[in-house]
Amino acid sequence: MGLFDEIKGFAEGVGNKAKDVSDSVKINSVIAEEEQNLKNVYAEVGKMYFSLHAEEPEEPYRELIEQIKQIKERINEQKAAMLKIKGMRQCPHCGGDVAANAAFCPNCGGKIPTLAELGLACPNCGAQIKEGMKFCVSCGFKLETEQDSKEPAGLNQ
Ligand SMILES: [Zn+2]
Ligand SMILES: [Zn+2]
Repeated sequence: MGLFDEIKGFAEGVGNKAKDVSDSVKINSVIAEEEQNLKNVYAEVGKMYFSLHAEEPEEPYRELIEQIKQIKERINEQKAAMLKIKGMRQCPHCGGDVAANAAFCPNCGGKIPTLAELGLACPNCGAQIKEGMKFCVSCGFKLETEQDSKEPAGLNQ
């Protein structure tokens, strides 16, 4: 074998190695993709189980179902806080976003309780009420303190 052949052989070897590397990258990406598919399907199975049995989970699922409910609750609390910042509220019927002063939901047509009904607006002039206010800052109307006693119950809902 001459020097040229040796070099050629070496170059082919390198070429094969490079091909092996690109093959293994391809294979790895196929594996990663399939593993993601698997995760998605597993998640679908979980979602399906949750939607069918959230109210009466069988024993091995009970704790996980409870976890899902707690996470959903935490997400809802955060969403409500976010909507409050944006001057929006959540529809009690469909969960869609509605303007804070909307009377009906634009998504489902459901009746939205007024801010006054929720104890968030002055029943006399309709001005927005902030937590802890004893009198309306717009009209001086004395606000009921039942808001304070309602607060803990509202958090537990
Ligand atoms: Zn709605
Ligand atoms: Zn007022």
